[in-house]
Amino acid sequence: MKRLFSALQSVLSSVLVVRLALAAPMIALAEDAMNDSDFERMGKPGHGDWLFHFHEPGQSFKDYVSSNPVRASGSRQVLVFQPVGPFSPAERDIVGKAALFAGMWFDLAVRIEPAADLPKNGWHRFRRFPWQDSPVRQYRTGYFLLELLPKRLPQDAVCYLAVTMADLYPDERWNFVFGQASLSDRIGVFSMVRYFPRFWGGEESGESRTIALRRCCKVLVHEVGHIFGLTHCIYYRCAMNGSNSLEESDRRPLHLCPVCLKKLQWNRGLDVIRRYEKLGQFYARHLLEQEASWINKRLEKARQHPEKILRW
Ligand SMILES: [Zn+2]
Ligand SMILES: [Zn+2]
Repeated sequence: MKRLFSALQSVLSSVLVVRLALAAPMIALAEDAMNDSDFERMGKPGHGDWLFHFHEPGQSFKDYVSSNPVRASGSRQVLVFQPVGPFSPAERDIVGKAALFAGMWFDLAVRIEPAADLPKNGWHRFRRFPWQDSPVRQYRTGYFLLELLPKRLPQDAVCYLAVTMADLYPDERWNFVFGQASLSDRIGVFSMVRYFPRFWGGEESGESRTIALRRCCKVLVHEVGHIFGLTHCIYYRCAMNGSNSLEESDRRPLHLCPVCLKKLQWNRGLDVIRRYEKLGQFYARHLLEQEASWINKRLEKARQHPEKILRW
């Protein structure tokens, strides 16, 4: 039965390859996405969009495999998160859920380390924002990438990511950054503060918590995706699209397009349907309704046309 399934799969794969050769020779897909309305091709970028400013070449599946990307191997099997500085209870809860979500997304175990402190001296500057009463202390990403994380990189970490509610900047030329990573060192730092209303002088609500959770999930999977060697996607609207602003990342979906999914499937040996089922349960539990409805459509299609979603 197993052999039959493999044979069937290879027939399906060659059908897929032939179809792709006719329609889109540069990309290989994990799902049969041609003429599939669940995946939206990237349109022309608007003014201010990431692809308007950065003419990225894209990364085909073949490019990805030959880039020899980071993989979970040997003792390095865990996504390790390092909270740094204070979090309110609601913020801690949301960022913790997003970290667990990233584990589900990459099919990896997750560990959240005990919180570390922000540096008391140096590594910061003060910024004034019109909507804040007092100046905000902004921290340099260099502190995390050069001082804190390299010394503590755990033996079992596929990657080791600091998460903080402090606002960040890389150097004096920048107003701020959402985060920064060093792919070769498997480390990164991400600030979640701008995803919550507190930073903007707003009040927290059930809706703001859902928005913050969605944003935290998006940034973590996108950045861990980079550590796993996925570059920005230019083919479809996809979790790996570059974004130039909070508004553009809010438009970015929380699913991988078929090209990027194939890369992840190759890297992690994923069962696409099983993964969708788990992510769907998370979305339903946390009221991420758009995402739940998208994934339910995919699962319904998989039930009706199992050959449309290939398993690696
Ligand atoms: Zn990116
Ligand atoms: Zn993609």
